[in-house]
Amino acid sequence: NGLSSGFGNYENKEAGWGGPPRDAAYNSFGGRSDRSKSAFFNDRGAGSRGRWVSLRSVIYERGGFAGGGNSRWAEESRDDDWSKPTAPNERLEHELFSASNTGINFEKYDDIPVEATGSSCPPHIESFHDVEMGEIIMGNINLSRYTRPTPVQKYAIPIIKSKRDLMACAQTGSGKTAAFLLPVLSQIYTEGPGDALQAENGRYGRRKQYPISLVLAPTRELALQIYDEARKFAYRSRVRPCVVYGGADIGQQIRDLERGCHLLVATPGRLVDMMERGKIGLDYCHYLVVDEADRMLDMGFEPQIRRIVEQDTMPPKGIRRTMMFSATFPKEIQILARDFLEDYIFLAVGRVGSTSENITQKVVWVEETDKRSFLLDLLNATGKDSLTLVFVETKKGADALEDFLYREGYACTSIHGDRSQRDREEALHQFRSGRCPILVATANVKYNINVKHVINFDLPSDIEEYVHRIGRTGRVGNLGLATSFFNDKNSNITKDLLDILVEAKQEVPSWLESLAYEHQHKSNNRGRSKRFSGGFGARDYRQTPGSGSFSNNRSGRSAGGHGGNRGFGGGKQTIRTGVFCSFFFFFFNCYENYGRM
Ligand code: AMP
Repeated sequence: NGLSSGFGNYENKEAGWGGPPRDAAYNSFGGRSDRSKSAFFNDRGAGSRGRWVSLRSVIYERGGFAGGGNSRWAEESRDDDWSKPTAPNERLEHELFSASNTGINFEKYDDIPVEATGSSCPPHIESFHDVEMGEIIMGNINLSRYTRPTPVQKYAIPIIKSKRDLMACAQTGSGKTAAFLLPVLSQIYTEGPGDALQAENGRYGRRKQYPISLVLAPTRELALQIYDEARKFAYRSRVRPCVVYGGADIGQQIRDLERGCHLLVATPGRLVDMMERGKIGLDYCHYLVVDEADRMLDMGFEPQIRRIVEQDTMPPKGIRRTMMFSATFPKEIQILARDFLEDYIFLAVGRVGSTSENITQKVVWVEETDKRSFLLDLLNATGKDSLTLVFVETKKGADALEDFLYREGYACTSIHGDRSQRDREEALHQFRSGRCPILVATANVKYNINVKHVINFDLPSDIEEYVHRIGRTGRVGNLGLATSFFNDKNSNITKDLLDILVEAKQEVPSWLESLAYEHQHKSNNRGRSKRFSGGFGARDYRQTPGSGSFSNNRSGRSAGGHGGNRGFGGGKQTIRTGVFCSFFFFFFNCYENYGRM
C-alpha cells in the first residue's frame, strides 16, 4: 500500500519493544482504549501532565522500553502512550488520503508575505522537520503529501508549539487549517489526555464528553472541512475528532459524540445546545480555535461565542491556549482578541488568491442578452471537463441557467439558498467528482474547492464578494482563471474592480478605465478605495504609531520584543479598522501574468 509510506519507518523503529498495538480497539475511529488500563494512569499524580510524565518515568525505570518488549509495563505504555501511532487501517487510510494533491505551485506561493508581531516571537520554520511534531503528525503529513509548509504554517506552527496565543489574519486557501491542527494535535499526542479522560471515564460515564480541543467555525461547510482535515491528522492516533453543526439531526450527532470526542469542531449555536443538554463539558478544553472570527461576528454569533468561552466551564485565557483566525481585523475582532487572547502574537498573512498572480482575471463587456451564448463559448474554450463555477445573481437565475446548460448538453448542477443541505452536499459531490463539472451558484461558495475557472455570469455589487468568489480558483498555488461579464448594470463596482485588477497586474480593459474615470468624476469625493489597497487583510493595531502601545516596534517579519504591553491600548486612535497595507503587496504580489492561461 503506497499510502502507508507516511509511516514507513515506524515498524522498524518500534520493533525493539514489540511493535505497534494491533488491537482494533485502538483505531482512531474504531473505539476507545481499555478503561481498566486507563484507570491505572488516573490514580497517579495531580495535574494531567504530571501524571503522564510520572507514569512514563515509571515505565522507563522498569526498563519497559529498553528491552522488556512484552513486559506488563510495556503493554501499559503502548496502550496509553498517545504519542505512539496505533495500528494502520488500510481502508480508512485510503478514504482519508486518496484524493490527489497535485499542481501546488509553491514557487509562487512562497512569495506571500507574512508579518509577525508581538513579544518574543519564536522564529519561523522552513520545513516541517524544523519543529518536533512527533511520529503521528509526521506520518500523516507524508500521507497528505504536504512537502513543505505554506507561509502561514511556517509562522503559526512554531508559535502554537511554543504555547503562545495567536491572532492570525489569514484567509481560507492559505493552509490555515493545518496551521493550527498540526501543532495542536501534536501537543495532545505528546501530553496525553490528562484529566479529560478521567472525567469522561469517571464521574459522568460516557454520556458527557470533555474535548481537549475546540474549534469554532461559522458554517457547517467550514466545520465539515476542518473536521475532514482533523480526521487526516488524527489518523493512527487515539484522538477522536467530532463535528456538530446546526440544521442536521442532533440525535445522530449526540450518538457520535458518545463514542468519544477529544477534538470538537462546532458551529456556535449547536455547541451551546449540546452544552445545555449536558453532552459537552469544556472543563478540560486546553486549546481553543476561533476560525473565521469576522464572519462569525457578521453572522451574529458573538453572544453564543461569549457564552461558550466566557460564561461556562472553559479554562480561562492564560490557562488555555487560544488561536483566532480572521480574514480582516476590524474593531469588533480586536475586542474579541483582547478578551480571549493572552499576550498574543499577531500574524498578518498576505492575501492568497485575489491579488495573487496565480489567478488570471479577465473582465469582458457582455450585454445581458448575450450572456448565455458568451458562456457557451467560454465553456467550450476551457474544455467541458475542467471544473467551472458560474455565479449568478438570483436563485431563479441559477435554476434557469442550470436548465439551459443541461438542455445544451452540459453536465451541470447548482447550489442556492432554496436547496436543502442534502441537495447542496449532493450537488457539491457531483461537482467535485467531475460528474457535473459545471456548478451554478448564487453566492460565495464556502466549501473548500479549487476550481479551474470562476465565471461571474452576474458580477456582485460588493467587491469583497468578488474577491471571495475568485478565491475559489488558483488556490494553494494552483493556476486559475476568473472571467467576469460586465455591463451597465455593474457600474457600482467599477472603481473597486479596477483597483483590484491594477493591484494584481492584470489586463485592464480601456473601457473599464474610462468608466471608472467617469464614475469618479460623478462622485468626486470618492477617492481610491482603501479597502483592497494592499496584500494584507489587516495589520496589528498594537503597532500603530501613537497608539501608546508598542510604539517603538514596527519591524517586519518575526519582529518581537514589544516589551510585554499586552493591553488593548488607549482609546479609539489605537484601533485601525480593516486596515490594508499596500507596501508588501507591491514587492511580493505584483507580477505580470497576463496571457498565461
Ligand atoms: P485551508 O486554507 O486550510 O482551507 O487549506 C487549503 C488547502 O490547502 C486544503 O485543501 C489543504 O489540504 C491544502 N494544504 C494545506 N497545507 C498544505 C501544504 N503544506 N501543502 C500542500 N497542500 C496544503
